[in-house]
Amino acid sequence: MRSRITPTASRIHRSALIIDTHADTPQRFLDHGFDLANPRGRGDLDLDSVRKGNLAAEFFSIWVEPTRFKGQYARRTLELIDSVRLQVDKHPEEMALVASAEGILRAHRANKFAALLGIEGGHSIENSLRLLRLYYALGVRYMTLTWSNSNDWADSSGDIDNKRIPHTQRGLTRFGEEVVREMNRLGMMVDISHVADRTFYRAVKVSAAPVIASHSSARALCDHPRNMTDDMLRAAARSGGARSGGGVVQVNFFSGFISQAYRDALSAVKPEADRAVRKAEKAAKPKGRKLTYAEISRIRGKYLRGFPRTPLSVLIDHIDHIAKVAGVDHVGLGSDFDGVGGQLPEGLRSPAELPRITGALLDRGYSATDCHKILGGNLMRVFREVEAVANPRP
Ligand SMILES: [Zn+2]
Repeated sequence: MRSRITPTASRIHRSALIIDTHADTPQRFLDHGFDLANPRGRGDLDLDSVRKGNLAAEFFSIWVEPTRFKGQYARRTLELIDSVRLQVDKHPEEMALVASAEGILRAHRANKFAALLGIEGGHSIENSLRLLRLYYALGVRYMTLTWSNSNDWADSSGDIDNKRIPHTQRGLTRFGEEVVREMNRLGMMVDISHVADRTFYRAVKVSAAPVIASHSSARALCDHPRNMTDDMLRAAARSGGARSGGGVVQVNFFSGFISQAYRDALSAVKPEADRAVRKAEKAAKPKGRKLTYAEISRIRGKYLRGFPRTPLSVLIDHIDHIAKVAGVDHVGLGSDFDGVGGQLPEGLRSPAELPRITGALLDRGYSATDCHKILGGNLMRVFREVEAVANPRP
């Protein structure tokens, strides 16, 4: 365990505008009645940890589990959006619902935690640009083109090798390209986390605005198909065209995406853990119940006992790698808090511990300016650029 951070690191962290682009907390709001003002319990994020870690803004993930909610993707999407809005309504002194880069600044100046919305998985739009536009109207400001499941118009890294699942010819169908262009027109960030490699390259080609990866790490350091190769990192950094400042890759904190040792250990227990989940699902079925994501995480968690914790330095290696390969203007934070069953690096259990990242970056020779870019400045630049590309006329 590393020692406490220095007063200089603390000062630099306190003066930063810190933005995290991925937390799965909405499922806790909706399925478990979790209130952000309560202690986080088994979760990762609550208002107290946000304040302690000086987190200015969080993009709350609107993620619809595709098997459980088949036939009701839009309904589940809307209920998750509502769950975030309700949290903001409950805590108007502490929080603000935000849908613009300027809004993040405004909330920060008013000493409020900015809650933003990002959809995780293009299946949420049910192949309808009309739904996409309505989600935008409700405040959604990014959408990952896929989650781990391919949809009718984009391929996912999660099932691209599965021959039984239909895939597109070249990453995006014609409609998929239209989705990307409509996102550009609306001013919604095109998020390439989770997509298959060819879908990434197609999206970068089609998008008139720089793209983001809201929660993706480096494949050179941990060989997961959902992580980005060095070539993809460079392509993301150049996305948006010649006059663009380029996109940004927000590093995912999940141990299974950053540590090869952890990923290998996970693969080894996966068959057994899968069996236990199926058994619990079967047992719940006669009662007319389906397991929630948190319940499934808890079952899987039993198989992780005795796993080595991932040192914080492994996460910093990813930030450092992306900064070296793509440039320091193209890396940020996409924690995946509340989405990885607590499998986070050592000493990074909640936003309260974000100052350690700043401390570790300074230790590696990053300047205060670099730290501020990584902690949120880069995302702000891209968000602003996406807003500038938007065109109100359809
Ligand atoms: Zn995800």
